[in-house]
Amino acid sequence: MPRYRRRIRWNRIFAAVLVAILAGSAVWLIRDSLGAIFPSAAEESFVTGESSTVSTAEIDVSGESSVPETSAESAPESSAESSVPERELPAGYQWLHIDESALYTGDLILVNNSIPFQAEPPETAVVYEEKTDSYKVKDMTVVLQSKVIEALNTMLGDFYARTGLDDVMVISGWRDPDKQETLYDEDLLETGKTDSTLVAKPGYSEHHTGLTLDFGLLPKSDGYGRSYDGEGEYAWINENCGSYGFILRYPADKTETTGIEYEPWHFRYVGAPHAQYIMENGLCLEEYIALLQEYPVDGTHLSTGGYSICWQLPEETADGLRIAVPAEGEYTLSGDNTGGIILTIKE
Ligand SMILES: [Zn+2]
Repeated sequence: MPRYRRRIRWNRIFAAVLVAILAGSAVWLIRDSLGAIFPSAAEESFVTGESSTVSTAEIDVSGESSVPETSAESAPESSAESSVPERELPAGYQWLHIDESALYTGDLILVNNSIPFQAEPPETAVVYEEKTDSYKVKDMTVVLQSKVIEALNTMLGDFYARTGLDDVMVISGWRDPDKQETLYDEDLLETGKTDSTLVAKPGYSEHHTGLTLDFGLLPKSDGYGRSYDGEGEYAWINENCGSYGFILRYPADKTETTGIEYEPWHFRYVGAPHAQYIMENGLCLEEYIALLQEYPVDGTHLSTGGYSICWQLPEETADGLRIAVPAEGEYTLSGDNTGGIILTIKE
């Protein structure tokens, strides 16, 4: 019985092929006739994209209007446009097209042992040339993003006004990957280990962002800033840095999450109001970025310090990436370096 049916099929296929060739039609006509004879088999092959559907796939990609009707009916999901439902804009929002680089830049990018710095080297300024007299800097090679130096001037100005101490010294700012490699190798040599829990891998250091700095103290600095422990009078800096846009990036109780030992001297600028929230709630940046993902743009936002904060994945369109942003009012955006965009909206 099965044999008999198979013979029948081949006969029919052969007949269909002959008809198509005789008619001098395009190759897809064979499919049409096949579809007419074995509609279910034809449908299946359209969806799964097996070898017999190559010509269909080509037609789909080119987007020409000559796509056989059976294709459009049986597999509407096969075209890129129709497979992604149009996302709805929340009320009061508009679309903003963004460059892919926006995903890797901004004050909130997460860089750690598993997420490399992926952006172009940041624009920086020489700290010595922009700093106030309230603190020291190691030498002319220490550079940071200008907004970080401004925040530093305010924070250490307030610290000096309180304590009269002006011996806090910025010993490290932006580093290129080569410099990081030297430090990393030196640490391995010193510890005799194959991996470092103190110095990030080259390409994976926050210092590549231009938003990160290490403190030392004058005159005892040993080059790594170990002489700054954030204790005694200096504890004020570590406890209040959030108000100035800085976080203690590697807290003592987060070493498992950050992968880096407690570093009381290593500060990262993330800007207000994020720094304040992170410090007040005892988070590390990894936890904060994960938390923000619970506040989608079209849902409840995280409201803190006069700002409304939310997270979204950009939508891919034929014209590139786009995100939803408020149609009016002030906002800033930052990539999180893991594919998402964080909106910080002034309330
Ligand atoms: Zn550091």
